[in-house]
Amino acid sequence: MSECIFCKIINGEIPSYKVYEDDHVYAFLDITQGTRGHTLLIPKNHIPNVYELDEETAHHVFKAVPKVAKAIKKAFNPIGLNIINNNDRPLQSVYHFHVHLIPRYEHDGVSISSIDHSNDYSESDFKAVQDAIKQAF
Ligand code: AMP
Ligand code: ZN
Repeated sequence: MSECIFCKIINGEIPSYKVYEDDHVYAFLDITQGTRGHTLLIPKNHIPNVYELDEETAHHVFKAVPKVAKAIKKAFNPIGLNIINNNDRPLQSVYHFHVHLIPRYEHDGVSISSIDHSNDYSESDFKAVQDAIKQAF
């Protein structure tokens, strides 16, 4: 029997607030409700993270993302919606691949931003970064 908490949710061994399910994916409310409607979308097969996500499972999960996003938008009319996927420590706390859908509201107190470091990068810095990733495929 799996020790994975999300596998247990899929199997009905522990409760969840399910909002959507098909043959391949399961979506349910994140227990923290970072914002009203914060939802997790997961594949039904146990895959720990994006590095082990096969293309077929990725297809099933990401095919469902707009469906769930549109339902959240229709339900709560947020001003926007963040889609986040955390991989590895210290970002990831549950090692069953999951996509966070986080509807955003005025003054919701959530801060998801990146810092602009572009001034620190010369043309050759950009090219070095580009090459490092391109050569890693
Ligand atoms: P992450 O940090 O990306 O791994 O996110 C894992 C998420 O799973 C967190 O936002 C938790 O609130 C959520 N979570 C953990 N256990 C449960 C549970 N039993 N039901 C719903 N959400 C959960
Ligand atoms: Zn699992």
